[in-house]
Amino acid sequence: MEPQRSPLLEVKGNVELKRPLAKAASRLPLSGRRLKRGPDQMEEALEPEKKRTRGLGTRVTTTHPRAAALSSAPQTQGQTAVPKAPRKPAPRCSTAVAPVLKTQKPGPVVPVQKPGTTAAPPMVGGKKPKRPAWDLKGQLCDLNAELKCYRERKQVLDQENQQLRDQLQEAQQQALALGAERKTLEEELTRVRAQAEQGQRELGNLSARVLELEERLGTQEGLVQELQKEQLRLQEERRGLAARLGEQERRLQTSEASLSDSQEEVASLRQEAAAREAVLAEREDRLHGLEMERRRLHNQLQELKGNIRVFCRVRPVLPGESTPSPGFLQFPSGPCGPSDPPTRLSLSRSDERRGTLSGAPAGPTRHEFSFDRVFPPGSGQDEVFEEISMLVQSALDGYPVCIFAYGQTGSGKTFTMEGGPGGDPQMEGLIPRALRHLFSVAQELSGQGWTYSFVASYVEIYNETVRDLLATGTRKGQGGECEIRRAGPGSEELTVTNARYVPVSCEREVEALLHLARQNRAVARTAQNERSSRSHSVFQLQISGEHASRGLQCAAPLSLVDLAGSERLDPGLALGPGERERLRETQAINSSLSTLGLVIMALSNKESHVPYRNSKLTYLLQNSLGGSAKMLMFVNISPLEENVSESLNSLRFASKVNQCVIGTAQANKK
Ligand code: ADP
Ligand code: MG
Repeated sequence: MEPQRSPLLEVKGNVELKRPLAKAASRLPLSGRRLKRGPDQMEEALEPEKKRTRGLGTRVTTTHPRAAALSSAPQTQGQTAVPKAPRKPAPRCSTAVAPVLKTQKPGPVVPVQKPGTTAAPPMVGGKKPKRPAWDLKGQLCDLNAELKCYRERKQVLDQENQQLRDQLQEAQQQALALGAERKTLEEELTRVRAQAEQGQRELGNLSARVLELEERLGTQEGLVQELQKEQLRLQEERRGLAARLGEQERRLQTSEASLSDSQEEVASLRQEAAAREAVLAEREDRLHGLEMERRRLHNQLQELKGNIRVFCRVRPVLPGESTPSPGFLQFPSGPCGPSDPPTRLSLSRSDERRGTLSGAPAGPTRHEFSFDRVFPPGSGQDEVFEEISMLVQSALDGYPVCIFAYGQTGSGKTFTMEGGPGGDPQMEGLIPRALRHLFSVAQELSGQGWTYSFVASYVEIYNETVRDLLATGTRKGQGGECEIRRAGPGSEELTVTNARYVPVSCEREVEALLHLARQNRAVARTAQNERSSRSHSVFQLQISGEHASRGLQCAAPLSLVDLAGSERLDPGLALGPGERERLRETQAINSSLSTLGLVIMALSNKESHVPYRNSKLTYLLQNSLGGSAKMLMFVNISPLEENVSESLNSLRFASKVNQCVIGTAQANKK
């Protein structure tokens, strides 16, 4: 296979070819203009010479110089490739004639004297002497000589003409050959130029490519430099790592040595731990036994204290209220002296209806009451709660617990249950305190495997209708849609339809619920009617506990009830439309409160029928009263003398309750 030739080399070859082409033109024997003439034109060119010759008559011009010019022109370029025209001798007039012709002009022709003719007269003064007229023979002789000369000259000219024709033909052939050659060369030139252009383009492309490659090379070089730097850095890092590895390996070896020691130690410790676990399990069993014993004893203690307990709480005189006369309320100390917590209360009343026979007003009558505990006006919320905390804890052990606040409006029931205004922690009531206590005890019991959950609800019963105090959104402040129903067919559990049951696990959640309840009460309040004091508020907490590993469960409700004001309407008052409504409310309240008393009595007397259904309140609370339940009633008393009548009513009601003893409480255990 022939190796491909570089376009650059091809161009060079073609350039070499140009050289002979340029020189060929200069080697032509005739100029281009003259070459273009045909044989006829050549004759025409010669014609003036002839004419001149003829015109001159005697004068004949030789063509030698022209012939010489024709033949001598290309001689200097003999080294070219163009075929050399054969060199021919320049045509000449006969050797005899030519010099004659050349010299003819300056000198007369001397005729050849023929015999019989007279000799030509001698030249006179440079002019040919004229023959005498008679010398006809001589004239004839001259003419013959002249004719002969012309004939010779013609012959020479013919030869010369023929020669020129040959040269012309030759030149034409040469011109044709050169034309063909020129065409070939022009074609070649075109091709070479095309190749050159192509080469130029390729060269351009190659230059661009070279530039591009150079650019890439630059980038690559930069990259290489960066990589080299990176390599150096990595090598450095590798050295560092290798050093660290060596260090780590040394440490590993020492660690391995100590590990084997430790493993032995671990094995012995495991044995020890297993032994301890066994001891721990045994102790846990004992602890559980003790916890169950604690619950039993706790319950026994509560039973000894009574399943129905009544505490009396007297609120302080508020700013702006008239101070009662000294001795109006007294708190006699217990059998062990002033250190004993008070359990008695005496109230003096000057009864105007009772008079002496003489008509003088009778002296004040003292009314003595005794309860499980009496809290004088100075008793703080914490002191009150401390007394009931053990009872609240019974709910965690599975005993239903119910705490009431009973008393006339303004005696401090809401203060006792929910707390005072302003969010002062000292003023916190029983509900937040009881829940906090339950949460913390449940937390402690979780260490013994118990898990507790708490679900809160808060409703109010007004005029025998139940309203959700935890309602939110559009249901806020609306009532009457709630009904008390059994949770399921055959179920003992009661539930309030349309009421929210909210799982709680911390104080903040309980606070939020109490706040919501206050808002709901405010929405329902009207100008004429402070409804909250005319309705029963029932806060219930469903407590469920489980000891998964021992398969134990317990559940009980804790109910905290802020009862409606127990005051009675003065029957002597004239009844307007507002009062009539108030009377209906009061009748509903009185009816439900007396039903509560009747229910407690029936339970105490172990009657077969307990009238729970006679009021919504007792119906809702039936699971928190009776047989297995523990009940506590706060009777709240106003310290004011003007409220003495209502205070006595409340104290009498509470005393009746206090006399009741309800069965033996049974924990709801499974
Ligand atoms: P009730 O709920 O029985 O109608 P409240 O609880 O609303 O009565 O009490 C009436 C007013 O007396 C409230 O301003 C309350 O703050 C105040 N009060 C009640 N008991 C106490 C107390 N133990 N200490 C201080 N203030 C009290
Ligand atoms: Mg109240």
